[in-house]
Amino acid sequence: MLSGKYEYVVVGAGIEGSATAYQLAKKGAKVLLLEQFPLPHNRGSSHGASRMIRRAYEEDYFCEMMNEAYSDWQELEKETGTKIYMKTGLVMISENLNVTESVAKILNSLNMKSELLTANQVNGKYPGVFLSDNETAVIDTDAGILKADKALRCLQEMFVRNGGEIRDQEPVRRIIPESDTSVMIETSHGTYRSNSAILCLGPWAPKFLKSLGLNLPLESVKTTVCFWRMKPEFSRMGAVWPCTVNISAEEHSYSLPPDEYEDLMKICWHGGVASDPDDRDRVSPAESHIDGLIKYVRRRFPCVEPKPSIMETCMYTCTPDESFILDRHPKHKNIIIGAGFSGTGFKLAPVVGRILADLALGKKPSYPLEPFSIARFTKSRL
Ligand SMILES: Cc1cc2nc3c(=O)[nH]c(=O)nc-3n(C[C@H](O)[C@H](O)[C@H](O)COP(=O)(O)OP(=O)(O)OC[C@H]3O[C@@H](n4cnc5c(N)ncnc54)[C@H](O)[C@@H]3O)c2cc1C
Repeated sequence: MLSGKYEYVVVGAGIEGSATAYQLAKKGAKVLLLEQFPLPHNRGSSHGASRMIRRAYEEDYFCEMMNEAYSDWQELEKETGTKIYMKTGLVMISENLNVTESVAKILNSLNMKSELLTANQVNGKYPGVFLSDNETAVIDTDAGILKADKALRCLQEMFVRNGGEIRDQEPVRRIIPESDTSVMIETSHGTYRSNSAILCLGPWAPKFLKSLGLNLPLESVKTTVCFWRMKPEFSRMGAVWPCTVNISAEEHSYSLPPDEYEDLMKICWHGGVASDPDDRDRVSPAESHIDGLIKYVRRRFPCVEPKPSIMETCMYTCTPDESFILDRHPKHKNIIIGAGFSGTGFKLAPVVGRILADLALGKKPSYPLEPFSIARFTKSRL
């Protein structure tokens, strides 16, 4: 049986846990990062080659945090000599002019570059995308693609370079709070003691947190990632295609230009079907889910064949308001929780890591944490 004493134990080596472990190790702390599966794996939320990075959000606090995230990713590129960010720009679409105007206003107030365009202007500028007359778009020029699997590998590499220890294939079975400065962590291989435990469990959070008395409104959702072949006349253009996000309630979706697979665009619904991450393939995506996406793609993207060429699976962990949970356990202050990244947490991982590390270190985080608090959910559910 293994045992040991650490200052911090981080559970879950997805992008959020790896970023948190790196921040703590960088401060010189003795840190253990535990992962249930052999690394790397594709069973959670952080696998795959690409994620979108953007400054444009409807929430001003996310826009502010993105400033720091961009410089963190840049620093990680320098530290590891790895290219992680590729600039493409973003067309953020809505039928509600108030929404696009408000996003443009937030970006301008933060001195970030953006542009508000009519449907005609978008259709003229980006021939691969089609907007109807009732739609408008805000253009976020700094948006692009993060090389997701490389980013995850780099964070784990930097964690180890800073003295951190990773143990994979070692599921945590139980967290036993002992006092405000001591937690026992029971795994498949042994028992560790730590000043503090930081839980970044991805879609396993809803189940696991119940064992710590927390019944949070988190939903694990299986989502289908679809890749669509570009028509030859468009791929021959050799243009840098933008990412898109459609924030209409009925057609909430996003797209990334070809990167992961040659000539295949990633176009997906933002969302999916509720499912247990340990039994996720017992639930198939409803046929209407893919049929609806095909209809949408046919109308929105004249540049691709309207049938997915490749389909993959990934998991979201959603909160009702799609904001994250970055907080201390209400009863055990040295158990820190990072959860509910609602399909949008990758780009913010370096900032999330710093916030969770600050909470574990007992420091005041540099952002107000009300939008991420556990207390925003009704007390009766805890
Ligand atoms: C299809 C898809 C597209 C997305 N697109 C974007 C995008 O464009 N931009 C963006 O910013 N975000 C995007 N996201 C969201 C982003 O990828 C997630 O928010 C992020 O990866 C969440 O990371 P995580 O570390 O919380 O979860 P995970 O990556 O799931 O990590 C949790 C880890 O904890 C481990 N674990 C759980 N329980 C235990 C245990 N008991 N013991 C040990 N280990 C345990 C799991 O095995 C797992 O490795 C997307 C997500 C998906 C699925």
